[in-house]
Amino acid sequence: MNVDVAVVGAGPTGLLLACELALAGVRTRVFERRTEPQRDSRALSLHPRSVEVIDQRGLLDRFLPLGRPVPGWHFAQLPTHLDFSALDSRHGYSLFLAQAHTEALLAERARELGVEIERGCEVAGLRQDGDGAEVEVRGRDGSVATIRARYVVGCDGGRSVVRQSAGIAFPGTDETLTGVLGDFAVTDPAALDVARARGVLVAPMEDGVVRFVYLDPERIRVPSGEPVTLEEFRASLTRLCGSDCGVAEPRWLSRFGNATRLAESYRAGRVLLAGDAAHIHFPAAGQGLNTGLQDAMNLGWKLAAVVNGWAPPGLLDSYDAERRPVGQSVTENTEVQTLLAELTLVPQYRRPATALRALFAELLDMPQVNRTLAARVSALGTAYPPATPGADPLVGHRMPDIGLTAAGSEAVRVYELLQAARYVHLDLTGDAPDLGPTVTAGWGSRVTPVTVTARDAHPDLDGVTEILVRPDGHVAWATRTTDVRARQAERTEALTAWAGTPS
Ligand SMILES: Cc1cc2nc3c(=O)[nH]c(=O)nc-3n(C[C@H](O)[C@H](O)[C@H](O)COP(=O)(O)OP(=O)(O)OC[C@H]3O[C@@H](n4cnc5c(N)ncnc54)[C@H](O)[C@@H]3O)c2cc1C
Repeated sequence: MNVDVAVVGAGPTGLLLACELALAGVRTRVFERRTEPQRDSRALSLHPRSVEVIDQRGLLDRFLPLGRPVPGWHFAQLPTHLDFSALDSRHGYSLFLAQAHTEALLAERARELGVEIERGCEVAGLRQDGDGAEVEVRGRDGSVATIRARYVVGCDGGRSVVRQSAGIAFPGTDETLTGVLGDFAVTDPAALDVARARGVLVAPMEDGVVRFVYLDPERIRVPSGEPVTLEEFRASLTRLCGSDCGVAEPRWLSRFGNATRLAESYRAGRVLLAGDAAHIHFPAAGQGLNTGLQDAMNLGWKLAAVVNGWAPPGLLDSYDAERRPVGQSVTENTEVQTLLAELTLVPQYRRPATALRALFAELLDMPQVNRTLAARVSALGTAYPPATPGADPLVGHRMPDIGLTAAGSEAVRVYELLQAARYVHLDLTGDAPDLGPTVTAGWGSRVTPVTVTARDAHPDLDGVTEILVRPDGHVAWATRTTDVRARQAERTEALTAWAGTPS
């Protein structure tokens, strides 16, 4: 076997996945077709849950200085924004950060962890058998090498060769509409205000560069494959805003479409899919990259557990069961947003569509509605269904990042305890002296036991006595039992179900 896991694609999804695998000691190689890192940035945002997972891996200090926190985000470009600051998180903001920076920081981390990112290496196809897969890799000089891997993960974007080679269907709808983006150095702030007022999305980036994004009713049926020219861009802005906003010398022009597809399965034998390889949609409310990062967080530790030989039955299959419904929900909400935008561009629907948007904006002013949608777009609301009936209501939800004091150590946050990407088992009552020895004897390399002597209050944790947190920060198991013997039995059962047979 040349490698345990071959990750195809060094976009944000592939890079974070490689970091997760390397943290667990899995031999990983990343094959990337591009010879150089991507300079232009499609995505510009890390939404709250992405910031949380970066925090969980101790990387926040690298990301925060390069980005700009913004307290909310638009939904369908409605005037009322989603308020992330009202959500229960230390990171109730979106970090405005160009995708190129996110990729550079993840690549840096992957290299530190010993991952080789092999650039100029295009995967041309693969064949799998019972205990691995042969991956055909075409190098810079055109030569083809066959790499044998125990598992292959396609993080190779919407046109994924891995997905196609594994025969995984990608049902959905073709592109029916396209938008355009352009990055320019613009000096006239008044022009930007006019553009905003006319429905053009205007996002100041770094070094004085401004991103314009628009849907021009006269150009929305132009296929995404047709290049955008400066003349076209100026003509569209003039049509939409009454002026071309002084744009010249574009840094980047691009046309993107609303093809919406979801892989029929995220796993076929030894092949798995993550990120755009598994789901594509219109970039409404900036969710694609963020969803890919969450896929990687969900998959990394599970695949590592299988490779390292201790995964309990069904753990790897839970990746599809947990993440595919999230992919489905994201594709659906982007379709809703696209429709809300598109209808206003169709003459016979313009009046009712404008009224519909006004109604939606009004609804978003209601705190509960706003919170519900903000939780969905930020991914803070993502909860995985419990595997067993009668589980504690916390199971599947993200663990709150409370501060706590552990016996014999300094105050710490739960997310800091997750940096090693192992399970964290918390005795919240501090009265289970057997926890440490039980965990260390049976699951020492997989679980960090913590006896909590003091902690922040959190309403979700009232009455909880013990809790097992997964490496991705979601709750695996929790109990409110106070009886010591009953707790011991439940604990052993939970540890075996999640962290495998004791070693
Ligand atoms: C206009 C626009 C704006 C967007 N804005 C946002 C936003 O604000 N927020 C957000 O979350 N998302 C946004 N997105 C979506 C986001 O850019 C993507 O969802 C994200 O890049 C997906 O990451 P990925 O790693 O899964 O795939 P990709 O970024 O597509 O990376 C795939 C990688 O695989 C490589 N590759 C492909 N085929 C092969 C092969 N055969 N062999 C080897 N390597 C291969 C590619 O070169 C590439 O580097 C936007 C998208 C667009 C179009």
